[in-house]
Amino acid sequence: LVYTDSSPLRRILHADATLDADGQPIKKKKVVVLGSGWSGYSFLNYLNNPNYDVQVVSPRNFFLFTPLLPSVTNGTVEARSIVEPIRGLIRKKGFEYTEAECVKIDASNKKIHCRSKDGSSLKGTTEFDMDYDILVIAVGAKPNTFNTPGVEEHAYFLKEAEDALNIRHSVIDCFERASLPNLTEEERKKILHFVVVGGGPTGVEFSAELHDFLVDDVAKIYPKVQEFTRITLLEAGDHILNMFDKRITAFAEEKFQRDGIDLKTGSMVVGVTADEISTKERETGKIVSEPYGMVVWSTGIGSRPVIRDFMQQIGQGQRRVLATDEWLRVEGCDSVYALGDTATINQRRVMEDIAAIFKKADTGDTGTLNKKDFNGVVKDICQRYPQVELYLKKNKLKNIAHLLKSANGEDTQVNIEKFKQALSEVDSQMKNLPATAQVASQQGKYLAKCFNRMEKCEKKPEGPLRFRGEGRHRFQPFRYRHFGSFAPLGGEQTAAELPGDWVSIGHSSQWLWYSVYASKLVSWRTRTLVISDWARRFVFGRDSSS
Ligand code: FAD
Ligand code: MG
Ligand code: MG
Ligand code: MG
Ligand code: MG
Repeated sequence: LVYTDSSPLRRILHADATLDADGQPIKKKKVVVLGSGWSGYSFLNYLNNPNYDVQVVSPRNFFLFTPLLPSVTNGTVEARSIVEPIRGLIRKKGFEYTEAECVKIDASNKKIHCRSKDGSSLKGTTEFDMDYDILVIAVGAKPNTFNTPGVEEHAYFLKEAEDALNIRHSVIDCFERASLPNLTEEERKKILHFVVVGGGPTGVEFSAELHDFLVDDVAKIYPKVQEFTRITLLEAGDHILNMFDKRITAFAEEKFQRDGIDLKTGSMVVGVTADEISTKERETGKIVSEPYGMVVWSTGIGSRPVIRDFMQQIGQGQRRVLATDEWLRVEGCDSVYALGDTATINQRRVMEDIAAIFKKADTGDTGTLNKKDFNGVVKDICQRYPQVELYLKKNKLKNIAHLLKSANGEDTQVNIEKFKQALSEVDSQMKNLPATAQVASQQGKYLAKCFNRMEKCEKKPEGPLRFRGEGRHRFQPFRYRHFGSFAPLGGEQTAAELPGDWVSIGHSSQWLWYSVYASKLVSWRTRTLVISDWARRFVFGRDSSS
């Protein structure tokens, strides 16, 4: 057979997805994904588009199931039971993985600069550049010390698997040291004073796990020193778990009181030295210092240095967190997406767009909206501005029509002034999504689905967003679905706050908690290991070697 390069016959003979219509090999777009945590792993897990060449860069070759991390600190669960190696997924999907850390993003040249982990001291570290067509940033965040002196040096964090193991060793170590002969009572008390800083879910859960360990195990293993142990939980605000329903906060505070955990609210840590932790009491302004044996720091998260540097480059230097639009595209630069704890969605205000919305709704340019005009845009408005739905729900209104009616009385025609007035309060319901695994994994899944449909959407540029010139985006914006919040409180009790104002506290919630988080991301291997850890602990107690 003789044929020219561009003949249709060639296309038939070489019916190959890797050739384009002219018979030329398609150059696949290179997607570089930074991170293998909740958002990154979820993105990779749902990405199914053969037209991308996917490169993953992460210093960690496994996914970590963070909700069970506090249980690793006291040996209820083994660290290896809650990690999932990513190599399996990478192979299955035909992706590539490099174990390295991205240290610089160069958005203007579409390049990243990476450094391999400082493994062998003989070889030293390797540095290399990697270019990308599309960059997906899913690097998470780092613990925030608020520049409190001494924290980096003396406190423990609880973020990575390694941290949990370090804490576990340190707790046991404190007990062994306190059991040495020739110590005064004061010295034993100091060594066995455990201080947890931060009354958010992680700090509370860790305190609860530590308390369980003291009650269930220490009493048997270290009976002589048990009386000297003390747990202090420091919180700068008025209450612990302040993002939860008041009932849960109250329950947790009471339970901690009963358990003998020393809860100090309104105390802000101002410094940590090798022996003492100093707090400032908000009411009196007094600074109090107390000796401690171990401090665990869990006061929230901040941006990683590589992200701070990137924000400077793209004109986001003034912001606290990297901002994306509702499609998870980083604002101020091209072809870069960010998801999970690294970023926050910069939600648009209805009031910013109100004139455009009105104009779009007003078919026939009459200057007023009738019922039909209105119905034409209601769905889009709710889709584009999640705060509208929250506002309606809060005010027990069925839909925007009811909102208008309350502003406009019986009149069915609405002019722009009335329209503005009716929607004037909705932006008050805007809030940032929390930095949770739930949000991160949903964002990963959402973005993967967008990537899976990318070509189709490029061919059919008519999207659901018909106003404000957003038609070109073609995808629905990201919408978060909240399945509930959980706060394990120790003693096999968990507080659950589910959508619809449903609060439940007790033993059954403990199981609900685990089943909610053990989503598709967790393999049967992980589930089996965790369940056998639980069974082992039930039968034999926790492992107290370090
Ligand atoms: P991460 O999961 O932190 O992943 C970041 C990834 O990026 C990691 O693989 C990391 O190695 C990698 N990385 C870091 N730096 C770089 C770099 N420079 N270059 C390349 N890669 C990099 N959320 C809940 O919803 N429910 C819970 O019960 C819950 N419990 C928690 C308990 C603890 C102890 C902790 C610490 C967190 C908990 N969270 C929980 C929060 C949840 O873990 C985070 O919100 C979630 O991990 C965020 O996902 P992410 O993908 O943004 O970041
Ligand atoms: Mg990630
Ligand atoms: Mg993770
Ligand atoms: Mg994180
Ligand atoms: Mg976020």
